[in-house]
Amino acid sequence: MASPWRDGFLEGLRPEEPLTVSEWADKYRKLSSKASAEPGPWRTSRTPYLQEPMDCLSTGSSVQRVVMQFAAQTGKTEAGSNWLGYVIDHAPGPMLCVQPTIEMAKRLSKQRLESMITDTPCLSEKIAPARSRDSGNTLFSKEFSGGIMLLAGANSATGLRSAPCRYLFCDEVDAFPADVDGEGDPVGLAERRTTTFARRKILLTSTPTVKDFSRIEAEYLRSDQRRFFVPCPCCGVMDWLKWPQLKWERDRPETVRYECEHCGERFEELHKPRMLGDGEWRATAPSDGKTAGFHLSGLYSPLGWCSWEQLVDDFLRAKGDAPALKAFVNTRLAETWEEDYAAAVNADGLMAKRLAYEPGTCPAGVVLLTAGVDVQDNRLACSVWGWGEGETGWLIWHQELMGDPTQNEVWGQLDQVLATKWATASGKELTIKQIACDTGGHCTHEVYRWVRERLGQGAMAIKGSSRRNSPAVGKGSKVDVNWRGKTLKRGVTLYLLGTDTIKTTLFGRMRHNEGTSSLNFGMGADEEYFKQLTSERQALRYHRGFPIREWVKKAGDRNEALDCLVYAYAALQLFSRRMNPGTMWEQLRQELEEGKKPPLRSRKKPQAAASSFVSSW
Ligand SMILES: [Zn+2]
Repeated sequence: MASPWRDGFLEGLRPEEPLTVSEWADKYRKLSSKASAEPGPWRTSRTPYLQEPMDCLSTGSSVQRVVMQFAAQTGKTEAGSNWLGYVIDHAPGPMLCVQPTIEMAKRLSKQRLESMITDTPCLSEKIAPARSRDSGNTLFSKEFSGGIMLLAGANSATGLRSAPCRYLFCDEVDAFPADVDGEGDPVGLAERRTTTFARRKILLTSTPTVKDFSRIEAEYLRSDQRRFFVPCPCCGVMDWLKWPQLKWERDRPETVRYECEHCGERFEELHKPRMLGDGEWRATAPSDGKTAGFHLSGLYSPLGWCSWEQLVDDFLRAKGDAPALKAFVNTRLAETWEEDYAAAVNADGLMAKRLAYEPGTCPAGVVLLTAGVDVQDNRLACSVWGWGEGETGWLIWHQELMGDPTQNEVWGQLDQVLATKWATASGKELTIKQIACDTGGHCTHEVYRWVRERLGQGAMAIKGSSRRNSPAVGKGSKVDVNWRGKTLKRGVTLYLLGTDTIKTTLFGRMRHNEGTSSLNFGMGADEEYFKQLTSERQALRYHRGFPIREWVKKAGDRNEALDCLVYAYAALQLFSRRMNPGTMWEQLRQELEEGKKPPLRSRKKPQAAASSFVSSW
């Protein structure tokens, strides 16, 4: 029902009525059966805690920045959608919506936005269907009278460099990269678009991630830190709900009750609707008048969404499994997860956990060998690692091969390692399938030469990269050129390693696991070895205001044992690329035990064993 004043140039002159986002949603928003578990008209009373965050986004509010650190299944997504609808229908202006990736922006546009527009008449009459040509309605841009809505991914700087915008919505900010295309923080980049607007609005939402590295927590801590206070059904005292107050009988989630901190009474979840209705947001920190921060755990989920029983059940399942527990803490409790792998891994602890196998022998479970070589000015440090199901690792052998890498002699020693046949627990033999050699030192050309002549034996050239969030092993680039500068077809490929990524993985495994995916050490590993292995720590550094974790070496310490492990792990990753991940370990086991050939390109057989060489360790 288009009224004349809604159309044409008069639109721009229309003053904004003092309607709030929640009032708009209650009046106009329809939830479709396609996109919602509870179709029909939107009712703010179903999730009373969403009213205040939404209303801070209303044009009448003086708040400029709204931070929502919310658990999953609490309706924060819908609060964001209501704001989008409000802007299109009621307070038009340029708006930028940023999702963690372009793919997710596409999904937001196709699924959430399209269905909201179709199901809400006052929106569908403002935005032409996406199908019609020149409608101003594309996947990443929706035009409407008096405004435009642009959708972008935080992983591409191009979309964030759009025209100035009055409204900015950054969704799931903890999944944003720390740096986008080398241009810095994507939130900062997007925020710069809003600076020309005095009455700008910024909404940041997310479930949190890791402590000290969570954007949403950092933003919340800078806000007035509001908590949703609800009255105890027994004593009436107002307080916010906390996870430790949930009590249940051992392994029986259905017995869950909430224990009031004030009167000590325990009550059931069925009181929740009334408690939520009587609840209110209270700031727990001083306010700057412009930033409102809201924290909400899954304990507040309305009846029928995610029950306390479900929470306890999730917790009991996750208990004891660090990644699952982290997911529970992040998505259900909306709290950050504390992790400091390196601090929990120390030389003494690893030394005490050594297994009783001899150096140079492969314990049961090992079906693949890789090696990592660190090149120093007067020696090569070399580790041979055994791998099995789930990337479970065993240190087989570690040695320093003394000699100048610009001379042939030390490389001859490395050839002996490569030629060695290593005995397995079942009396079979394994040879090294992939050996990664560091080119970062002063002897790049010598490394290339050695690798080039042994490509058929699984030699690869690698270089550590300090770029954050890089993949464990990069794509690889041809680096060998002839005297004319032309790339050699059969030349060396150099692989860049995301060393920070690999170290985080490896330290996580050293700390947490026993059994599958663990890293194991035999009696050959000595104090010096473990000292080198644990010579690095994760340090917190701030980059354009955001915390970044970085691996740093303790001053003066040697870290070759760690580097060798990182390279051997990279060799495993590269080897795995040629295998079917689903069947890889079973294939390797069969190859070892039954002598079946793996479906790989054929290789020259290595020379005879140099067993005396191995036993010198
Ligand atoms: Zn009470």
